[in-house]
Amino acid sequence: MSEYTNAPQVPFAIAIHGGAGTISKAQLTAPLRQAYKDTLTLAINRGSAILAQGGDSVVAVQAAITVLENSPLFNAGIGSVYTYDGGHELDAAVMDGRTMKAGAVAGVRHIANPIDLAFAVMQHSDHVMLVGDGAEEFALTQGFTLVPNGYFSTPARNQQLLDAKERLNNAAVALQMAGIEAHNMDDKFGTVGAVALDKQGNLAAGTSTGGMTAKRFGRIGDSAVIGAGTYAENGVCAVSATGHGEFFIRYHVAGDICAKVKYQHKSVIEAAQEVVMQRLAAHGGAGGVIAIDSLGNIATPFNTQGMFRATQRSDEPAKVLIWEEE
Ligand code: ASP
Repeated sequence: MSEYTNAPQVPFAIAIHGGAGTISKAQLTAPLRQAYKDTLTLAINRGSAILAQGGDSVVAVQAAITVLENSPLFNAGIGSVYTYDGGHELDAAVMDGRTMKAGAVAGVRHIANPIDLAFAVMQHSDHVMLVGDGAEEFALTQGFTLVPNGYFSTPARNQQLLDAKERLNNAAVALQMAGIEAHNMDDKFGTVGAVALDKQGNLAAGTSTGGMTAKRFGRIGDSAVIGAGTYAENGVCAVSATGHGEFFIRYHVAGDICAKVKYQHKSVIEAAQEVVMQRLAAHGGAGGVIAIDSLGNIATPFNTQGMFRATQRSDEPAKVLIWEEE
């Protein structure tokens, strides 16, 4: 796990993720692996350049996420997974630990960069979360251009939908009696997120996702839910999560990690480790988080095979990783 324990305070730091899941070393070919690493590098560089110049953590988070949303490799923006009905519904959230303001959008179908709309909700509305048509109507008032839903489509995600439907149909036969809906964690890795500490000591977090393959239309995951997939509080920590959203909502993952830091005075490393590797894992909640504290300590625990991620503290070179052991 790439993390910094009791590291000396640094002027600024940033961590990003590109989703957690069953990332097979055998299936991720060398060129594809390189493409992931190049895009993660581009994204973290974009964010850290803003921080190096004294920019706000929340702006750095937005900038890094936008790079990942614009890449078809990740399940956010273009390249988002499909709903069961063959469409795309995107969720995103951002939180500024300095002001404790937050903005989130869910179920948007025509916004190329949902993180930008979440940012606009935080800055220019009286609300925290806007959903579906209401979010898109608000987007128009903010000068956003709507894109066709097909903008998000990619052949790789379409194949995942076909595979998932087949598995769901097979599983449905077996699970029908128990009334359980089957979902496969492997269908949905690729959510993106960022957390950052700026030179002014402000923390911020953001997350953006297409959700999970073959989800029901109208389903909202943890990414857009403040305290579940996204949370930031100055002096405490900032967290962005990725994984099986229903678990992250029910176990209040991002908020729980920060509560351990705030009230139990645990290090961000210990707190994130406990929640992801013990509490979540014990209940079958697959996924991981990136978390940062106000000293620039970074935790990146995940209980899946891999998690696309990168970390950078001040002028140190960025670390870009996929598995526990590279
Ligand atoms: N957490 C996201 C969701 O459930 C998916 C993911 O992170 O892979 O919508």
